[in-house]
Amino acid sequence: MRAAVFERPGEMQVKDIPLQPCGPGDLILAVHACGICGGDIRNFSTGLRYGIASQVMGHEFTGTVVEMGTEVTGFNVGDRIALAPDVSCGTCWYCRQGLINLCENHRMVGTNWPGGFAEFVHLDAEILAHGFVHHLPEGVGLTEGCLSEPASSVIAAQERVGIGAGSSVLILGDGPIGCLHIEVARANGASQIFISGRSRLAAAQQFGPDLMLDYEKDDVVAAVRARTEGRGVDFAICANASVQSQQIAIEAVRKRGKVVLFGGVPKNNPMTSLDSNMIHYNEIEIIGTFSYQKRHHLAALEAIRKSTIHPEAYFTKTVGLEDIVEGFVAAKNREALKVLVKP
Ligand SMILES: [Zn+2]
Ligand SMILES: [Zn+2]
Repeated sequence: MRAAVFERPGEMQVKDIPLQPCGPGDLILAVHACGICGGDIRNFSTGLRYGIASQVMGHEFTGTVVEMGTEVTGFNVGDRIALAPDVSCGTCWYCRQGLINLCENHRMVGTNWPGGFAEFVHLDAEILAHGFVHHLPEGVGLTEGCLSEPASSVIAAQERVGIGAGSSVLILGDGPIGCLHIEVARANGASQIFISGRSRLAAAQQFGPDLMLDYEKDDVVAAVRARTEGRGVDFAICANASVQSQQIAIEAVRKRGKVVLFGGVPKNNPMTSLDSNMIHYNEIEIIGTFSYQKRHHLAALEAIRKSTIHPEAYFTKTVGLEDIVEGFVAAKNREALKVLVKP
């Protein structure tokens, strides 16, 4: 099969590789499409997690079952599947608490197993047992389903920090994750949604934020305070890979406000400095969020079905597998909101 293989930082080769045969407990999916994630872009330049040298990346994909082992139940050839990449062990302390996103033996399709930048994906029994392999609901297209994975983590983050009716929210970052935070916050009942960004604000506008701020031209903190009776917002979500955003977030939240660290920062430069007196005197909470539970992936598929999330507005560029590097460049240069690869 054809696959885009990450070889080393900055290098990806599209080539023929063998597809592992379908064992009795396994499934083979024909990939319909796979989104390029911010994490893929980061890994492309700095390398895969866990020191893995080479792999087929891609974890935001959907596909159709084309082959199935004799022991597999609950699926049929022809079924339309949306997948999320995390695979937990089921036995560690966190898994036993139900916190599978924090599994001590956390692994991912697209990192530990070959992922979706390929014609086919082999899903073994372990992925089927401890991963996220869900049927697409009736009425959700295969292309639309590709947004379910990033949407899951946004839904999980907002649930964890308690964004709800009447909340005021500042989102820092105008990429696909920032836009998803607008849609999910709106669905959760937030009354004021502000977004700060730069090159993709025009695209973010279609999701209906109450105020858009250009972080190079506007005083984000002053603008947000002016709209919240001088207090600041209830929640500031850092939805980009920028340590500067984290300090702006602390200045923009009200007393007892919550700062959400959603986006990972470059792994070669993860240190940040924040005004700890502001955190202390204002009783600010700083909360990290990562990944999600199964119910969040199902909720994301349902949000797409009910059109509280609009995938078609995110997929502003589609490339074939042979042109995947062009897709990575467009995503990295923020020329597109979400780039889809169709093998
Ligand atoms: Zn992703
Ligand atoms: Zn575990």
